[in-house]
Formats: sequence, C-alpha cells, structure tokens
Amino acid sequence: LSELPRPRQTRVLTVANQKGGVGKTTTAVNMAAALSQSGLKVLVVDMDPQGNASTALGIPHTGDVAGVYDVLIDGTALADVVQESPSLPGLWCAPATVDLAGAEIELVPMVAREGRLRKAVRVFLDERAATGDPIDYVFIDCPPSLGLLTINSFVAGSEVLIPIQCEYYALEGLSQLLTNIELIKEHLNPSLQVSHILLTMFDGRTRLSAQVADEVRAHFTDTVLRTSIPRSVRISEAPSHGETVITYDPISSGALCYLEAAKEIARAARAQEEGGTDE
Ligand code: ADP
Ligand code: MG
Repeated sequence: LSELPRPRQTRVLTVANQKGGVGKTTTAVNMAAALSQSGLKVLVVDMDPQGNASTALGIPHTGDVAGVYDVLIDGTALADVVQESPSLPGLWCAPATVDLAGAEIELVPMVAREGRLRKAVRVFLDERAATGDPIDYVFIDCPPSLGLLTINSFVAGSEVLIPIQCEYYALEGLSQLLTNIELIKEHLNPSLQVSHILLTMFDGRTRLSAQVADEVRAHFTDTVLRTSIPRSVRISEAPSHGETVITYDPISSGALCYLEAAKEIARAARAQEEGGTDE
C-alpha cells in the first residue's frame, strides 16, 4: 500500500447532499477507510440518527452507547464517545444512536446551538495534536435534511464533499444545497468551501450515467474528482458485514475506486499546500 501525504493541518470534510440515498454515508465511510488504510489517522462523525455510518464501520450504537447525542446535548467530550474500528486500526467513529433524532429539537433553545459540534471537534483535535498523535482527516456524515444537525456539520467543517448519484434526478436540489452552503458561509463559517464532488453509482452501460457525469463535470470542472465510483454490489453488501468495501473486498472495483478517489483528495491538499494558495 502506498503511503499518502499527511495534510499539514487536519482536514474536516462534511459529506453533504440533501437528497437521501445518493451515497453520502457510503462515501464517508469508504473514504475514511481508504485513507486510514494508507496509514492516515481518521475520524468519522456520524451525524445521521439512522446510524448507518456507525453500522458500516462495525461500531456498536445501541441506545446505551454514548455517542454524538451526548456530545451535542450534554457536552460530553468527543474523546469519551469515539470508538476505534475493529477492522481498521487508526480509524475512529463517533457513533449515532437513535436519540440523536431528538437532538434536532433539543438543540433549538440551546446557546450557540449551531457551533456545538465544531467546538467538540476542535477540542478533540487539539488534544490529539497535543499528545503527538494527530488526526489527519475528519469525515462528517450528514442526514438528508437541513436541520440543526446538518448546520452543525457545516459549521464544524472546513470543506464540503458532495456525492452526486449518476441518476436522472441527481441535479435536482443541488442549487438549493449550494445556496444553503453560501448562507452558512456568510453567517456562520466563512472558511467553508465545496472542495470536492464525487460521482457515485456510475453505471457505464447506461447513456444516462454518462450524461449526468458530463453535465456535472462541465459545470463544476476541477472540483469533480476524476475517479467516479461504479455501481457495485460489493459496495452495497459490505455494511451488512459491519465493514467497508475496503476491507470486505479489497480488490473489487468499488474498493479500488474509493482508494483512487481518496488518493486524489489527499494529493489535492498537498498540491494546494505546496502552491501556497490557501495560506
Ligand atoms: P445516503 O447516505 O446519501 O442516504 P447511502 O450511502 O446510504 O446514501 O447509499 C444509499 C444506498 O445505496 C445504500 O443501500 C448503499 O449501500 C447503496 N450504494 C451506495 N453507493 C453504492 C454503489 N456505488 N454501488 C451500489 N450501491 C451503492
Ligand atoms: Mg446516509
């Protein structure tokens, strides 16, 4: 396995798209797995009450487990809720339990309600850096809505990674998503930027997939990762084994494409750092 460059600073990527079923969770966990397998330290924050990311990473998240709910509502430290992946050392997950659904309402009257995740992530990253074992990447898996859980996710991130499904309705709602990101930028998190778009569930046999891909690339140019993720049965099977496709079937096309896409993300940061354009 090739080593990937470590970013100079922790990169916090919010994986977002208001549409459900477009590959947000699949992308968050497989990108995280791909980077951790290449020797990087990665944290996944599961912000979706359904807890699909926790499941896919083999992390227990039943009601009695401490998770993101406790962090947002009770101020529990992230360090006290993260669990290391059983199959991928160097990959941690802050799990989502069902009570997270209630947090959407419970957050409403709270002070600085939009910034609670950001604060918790900052403290965790600072602690890890201080112990000489810094986290390189954080992936925040969003629910498919624009409530306070998603807003917290945007405020905590510095980058947005948008998965786009290569299907007919893929672009519907995308301009709304971009408008919302602009609003977050303007009011809550000026440094937020859409850094990467990933085409998912690409089906090379259909004209439609190719058309959607062409349209997205024409519009978003270099933001779109060159690697797209094929529709693959192995990718969809992996979560039921509590694994990402990276460990479940490492030589499948799905695993290889997520590894390739992760490389692009890691190298994009290095190129940017060397160009000095973001300093
Ligand atoms: P979201 O988090 O946006 O709701 P998911 O990542 O849960 O979307 O994906 C929705 C469904 O599609 C899941 O059942 C998942 O296993 C499946 N899926 C995601 N990506 C692929 C792919 N590349 N090939 C086949 N199935 C996929
Ligand atoms: Mg999901």
